[in-house]
Amino acid sequence: TSEPIFCTGCGVQIQTENKGELGFAPPSALKREVIICQRCYRLTHYNEVQDVSLTDDDFYKILNTISEKKALIVKIVDVFDFTGSWLPGLHRFAGGNDVLLVGNKVDLLPKLINRNKVINWMKFSSKQLGLTPKSVSLMSTKSGEGVLEVASEIDELRKGRDVYIVGCTNVGKSSFINQLIKQFAGDTDQLITTSHFPGTTLDVIDIPLDDGQTMFDTPGIINHHQMAHYVSEAGLKTITPKKESKPRVYQLNSGQTLFLGGLARMDFTNGERTSFVCYLSNELTIHRTKIEKADTLYQQHAGTLLTPPEEEQGPLEMVKHTFKISDQLSDIVFSGLGWITVRGTGLKIEAYAPKGVGVSIRPSIM
Ligand code: GDP
Repeated sequence: TSEPIFCTGCGVQIQTENKGELGFAPPSALKREVIICQRCYRLTHYNEVQDVSLTDDDFYKILNTISEKKALIVKIVDVFDFTGSWLPGLHRFAGGNDVLLVGNKVDLLPKLINRNKVINWMKFSSKQLGLTPKSVSLMSTKSGEGVLEVASEIDELRKGRDVYIVGCTNVGKSSFINQLIKQFAGDTDQLITTSHFPGTTLDVIDIPLDDGQTMFDTPGIINHHQMAHYVSEAGLKTITPKKESKPRVYQLNSGQTLFLGGLARMDFTNGERTSFVCYLSNELTIHRTKIEKADTLYQQHAGTLLTPPEEEQGPLEMVKHTFKISDQLSDIVFSGLGWITVRGTGLKIEAYAPKGVGVSIRPSIM
């Protein structure tokens, strides 16, 4: 075992095993005279930030620090995985600070969708989760939609204060920051720095704002409840929509069920024959069967007919969520997968998803 090596940039201990984690450097970097972690390397050479994951403990220390500051908090979530990318407990740490909630990846929603309905649903869900944002916006760092609007909203809402950008991993926080840097930092290569967060092993990225205040990009936390954690890399490719989701329509009688790959299942237990429209990644296979056959089918074919999961993962432990439908048009939302729009009232539905993955109902946004 060799001596620990520390990054000359941020001081973190260097490791060469886990790419997405703090302190990673490729083994070849150890041969250099000045050793820095990949994150610092990208920052200094490309002015590009890269997200790292961290322990929950360190993350909450960072949040605690924010609660003692006067700042604007910009919280980024993934609109396609709202509950999965939610940072629980942020409201307790916001202190009296304003929160701007930004839903990223809006390009993944069907084009026909009414943006205001999505925003209203985000406002409603935030309140239910205990957070009242000052404002809610949508953007796509991929298509560029809404990014400049969010930037000017930040400038307006911060009223001369510092800004903290928070979000769990994979919401597109780095993509957003990198766009902001391109937009606003211009030639100011040397201005972007990292600083140590007191009491943690972590550093934040400091981006200067034109009035002497700072925008802090905090590291993202891994949210263990995300559907993404139940699938392999290949599985994640399958469930993440790459383009606009094509609605797939099923007319079902009660007693029928739909499997969404092998990651979720929706039983139509009571009600008149009606339509179910699935908005998921186009690559995710939907399998229709009878409820009475569903358990056996899953045990025998999870990982083969019903994928993801992969064959070696086998069947996942599923949790049941029961819904009584009272709206004319409702969406059953499977966090990280998409949703199924159901028509009719007085229906009963039982939905299954891996333990910890959110399944919820909302008045349809379609
Ligand atoms: P971070 O972990 O929060 O910093 O997220 P990243 O910026 O690294 O992005 C995570 C993943 O989401 C990457 O695969 C990005 O390409 C993808 N991504 C980021 N923003 C968007 C977006 O607006 N739309 C879509 N479809 N994908 C995005």
